[in-house]
Amino acid sequence: MQKVGFVGWRGMVGSVLVERMQSEKDFDSLESSFFTTSQVGQKTPPYLKNNDLLLDAFDINELSRMNIIVTCQGGDYTKKVYPELKKIGWQGHWVDAASSLRMDDDALIVLDPINHIAIDEAYQRGIKTWVGGNCTVSLMLLAIHGLIKENAVDWVSSMTYQAASGAGAQNMRELLEQMGSLYNSAREMLDDPRSNILAIDQKVLESMHSKSFPKDNFVVPLAGNLIPWIDQDLNNGQSREEWKGQAESNKILQNGHDSIKVDGLCVRVGSMRSHSQALTIKLKKDYDVKQVEKMITDGNEWVKLIPNTRENSIHDLTPSSVSGTLEIVIGRIRQLNFDKNIFSAFTVGDQLLWGAAEPIRRILKILIQKER
Ligand code: NAP
Repeated sequence: MQKVGFVGWRGMVGSVLVERMQSEKDFDSLESSFFTTSQVGQKTPPYLKNNDLLLDAFDINELSRMNIIVTCQGGDYTKKVYPELKKIGWQGHWVDAASSLRMDDDALIVLDPINHIAIDEAYQRGIKTWVGGNCTVSLMLLAIHGLIKENAVDWVSSMTYQAASGAGAQNMRELLEQMGSLYNSAREMLDDPRSNILAIDQKVLESMHSKSFPKDNFVVPLAGNLIPWIDQDLNNGQSREEWKGQAESNKILQNGHDSIKVDGLCVRVGSMRSHSQALTIKLKKDYDVKQVEKMITDGNEWVKLIPNTRENSIHDLTPSSVSGTLEIVIGRIRQLNFDKNIFSAFTVGDQLLWGAAEPIRRILKILIQKER
């Protein structure tokens, strides 16, 4: 059996990965070890069903005993540990959810429903570094997979509405703390139906601006607010999250698909889980709505078309309706006033599943099958 070391298993992505692997019984076909950066020597939690103690995620010797290392720990960890393993000549497979290695020539971004041929070719070439794509990129490509397969897309503008959990476990907790602070600040007035709504609004705003408001992770309030910038400032007006849209999409699409132009603004909103994106799609030729809907529906088994009505949209095209599922919903499809080949769409998918843990789970399974 392949020895597989897991790092980052208690974070947002790691927890979802473990949950998915347990429900698919993936742990039965590998020998697992769990590493930690903060709890070395402690017992593994009972839900992991592994009686060993937690290993040191910075112990290169211990890590090098693994045939495959799966890390959901984050980019700083990857930047520190990966080069050290390479330096001692470790020949195992490195599977990573962080972005640090994505654009390296000897790394493949994995999204196997779309680039399984590229994965097979890369394995044959001896590639050993497999990285999950950016969450919004993977979700967008799966949502418009049918249009990509038909080579119908010229460009896509993606305006994102990204959930708090996209920034990690601590941020998800902080959003709830912020919500609690806002509620508590206005609680008494809310209990009194005669209280003035502007006075309530003022109390909430004061709470948001107070020094004690919990914002160590987000830096600014997210509850009752939004944050129109995600990831680093590239100092050209674009955020790194926005840059990933085109760069990563085309790295995933290389070998078998035409490249597409992708750009837009990335915004953090106060949803807990699942990223949404408003897409403007320019197609290479004129289609009608029915043709576009048909192509999208035929994309893959996870995409689900939501009829463009108010009722369907408010119930079925939302973060709360898809969170915890592998469904990628897409709706609000209509021809925009600009031109016959320009369409709108709104898509939502669980960024912790198809946007992170699921491509990682699936490449691990592929590698285990290939290494047999
Ligand atoms: P995360 O939730 O912040 O977890 C990372 C690590 O933080 C954990 O493995 C854990 O390490 C430590 N940690 C500290 N306090 C914690 C707490 N209270 N609860 C849980 N863990 C805690 O990070 P993440 O969101 O999973 O992201 C991991 C990587 O995946 C990042 O590179 C990220 O960019 C990428 N990614 C994330 C998403 C997403 O939607 N979140 C999507 C795609 C890719 P120890 O156990 O060693 O202390």
